[in-house]
Amino acid sequence: MVFQTAKMPAQKRIALIAHDDRKLDLLEWAQYNRDELSQHILYATGTTGTILSKRLGLEVTTFMSGPMGGDQQIGSRIAEGEIDVLIFFWDPLESHPHDPDVRALLRVAVMQNIPIACNRSSADFIFSSLLMDQPYERHLYDYVTRLKRERVIEQVRFTDETH
Ligand code: PGA
Repeated sequence: MVFQTAKMPAQKRIALIAHDDRKLDLLEWAQYNRDELSQHILYATGTTGTILSKRLGLEVTTFMSGPMGGDQQIGSRIAEGEIDVLIFFWDPLESHPHDPDVRALLRVAVMQNIPIACNRSSADFIFSSLLMDQPYERHLYDYVTRLKRERVIEQVRFTDETH
């Protein structure tokens, strides 16, 4: 089942996102954890990142705003193994025009087996882990075989050869 592993450095690349109604909660959490956050490399969607960098005085690489594609940008970084931790305070009481992007982002984070916190207590548990400051090997599962992608490639090759 485990296909290979991917190295997470001691200094983590952390993506932070909060829906509008959860931004204050994330900001409060981030202020409390400012010292730990300052040890890592921070990314965020547009508005979340602007608020965090101003209020924490830390460097945060910001992508586009979530509804404009920022969630997808972070999702693509996760798919490429460039983000190690996702802190995403999504709002359970609102639906959003970019809900498909949110779902895709969470899906790819599960697929890449990175730690995900969708609420404050999960973020506290992740941040109190000794692994936050140590290298870690995360397992990557063999979804390619399970999805039978090789078989599809073989089928196409066979079709090519018989024409
Ligand atoms: P924002 O995006 O940080 O630009 O508000 C968050 C989101 O809605 O996904």
